[in-house]
Amino acid sequence: MSRSIAIWGATGSIGQQTLDVIRRHPHEFEVFALTARSASDQLIRSCEEFRPRFAVVRDHAVSELVSKLKGVNSKTAVLSYRDQSALTEIYAAQVTVTAVTGAAGLDSVVESIRAGSRVLIANKEPVVMLGRLLQDLIHKHGTAVLPVDSELNAIFQCSGGLSGGQFQPFQKIAGLRRILLTGSGGPFLKTELDALIHVTPQQAVAHPIWSMGAKISVDSATMMNKGLEIIEVRWFFDTPPEKIKVVVHPQGIVHSMVEYEDGSVLAQLGSPDMRIPISNTLFWPDRRSSGAEFLNLTQLSGLNFQKPDFIRYPCLKLAHAVARAGGTSAAVMNASNEEAVAAFLSSKIHFPCIARVVRESVERLGDHRVESIEHIQAADAQARIVARESIQKMSI
Ligand code: NDP
Ligand code: MG
Repeated sequence: MSRSIAIWGATGSIGQQTLDVIRRHPHEFEVFALTARSASDQLIRSCEEFRPRFAVVRDHAVSELVSKLKGVNSKTAVLSYRDQSALTEIYAAQVTVTAVTGAAGLDSVVESIRAGSRVLIANKEPVVMLGRLLQDLIHKHGTAVLPVDSELNAIFQCSGGLSGGQFQPFQKIAGLRRILLTGSGGPFLKTELDALIHVTPQQAVAHPIWSMGAKISVDSATMMNKGLEIIEVRWFFDTPPEKIKVVVHPQGIVHSMVEYEDGSVLAQLGSPDMRIPISNTLFWPDRRSSGAEFLNLTQLSGLNFQKPDFIRYPCLKLAHAVARAGGTSAAVMNASNEEAVAAFLSSKIHFPCIARVVRESVERLGDHRVESIEHIQAADAQARIVARESIQKMSI
């Protein structure tokens, strides 16, 4: 029997790859809702093809979407994010994929967990912001939450996910020595440090291996993406930060590893194609085709691993400290990074200023014990104000 699925951030890189996997298994899912920010042509095309019961966009785009959908598809009702009572039905879809980018996806993560949907989380920023509160929420509602982010999905597969049916998210991995979190190092792994001030947004989003949305591509270039993942792993696998080691692996074939006390290291390998972790979580504990290319080991030129260079990647160093602090500084780091990345993408600041903006915000606002979701949202809002002040000072 097919399961209803809601995809938050359906027009983005993860959203579209999810729809591609679903397209390959037409009898498995009924696309219940697709959401986006704007009434883009991509959203219209996806509504035409998948005929969801609901399409949700931000207020400014509602009337545009209604008129664009006229004559294309009369089955889809258009909602705004403000229609909270109508959204309740969507949060309760049998399966939810959260693939909005940034803190804007917080509600979709929290509410779908509260509604007891099976939640496949790609949207890492809310995990980083909420930390321990997310653990509490999941335990309280008994929701099944599975990680789509490729590194977390690899760790999931190399730990409980492997034994099928047994995995409990947000619990410790038994016998764990270390988690080895791999990252490619992004497009500037070998760029002269002095030249980083001249790199353009176009160069920063041109990731050597993965094809992703603009924000996460810049995060990969600064390795803030790995920093966010340290915190994501810290909560998702209830692992102390000192047991999480980042390893630079330029080929992007090993998606992360779990090292156990007996000396065994389990790794998950695969083509760098997000349809693999998407398919893994959509069908877990079963395995179904994803459309990704199979790995041809004999054609690989080699697999390299190296220590990260904290001078090249100051965001990574900062994220380690934030992970150890464990409180509101994670939300501050995340929000100020979102502001700094947006400023860099619109050519307001130079690339190395991203790390400076984030560091200033974290230093100015400090770390406090997380009390509630409202407390985190307040930290996020405050961080954005402080970050904008820094951006103003550093603007080109
Ligand atoms: P994209 O930028 O490609 O897509 C973002 C999606 O979110 C779009 O559907 C966009 O709608 C929607 N969106 C953006 N802002 C808002 C907003 N304010 N309100 C409502 N909807 C909004 O992002 P990605 O798919 O690359 O990334 C999505 C998430 O998944 C991120 O958290 C990222 O870190 C994570 N992730 C992504 C990976 C990847 O390979 N791309 C890998 C691992 C994790 P619209 O098109 O209308 O703007
Ligand atoms: Mg990742």
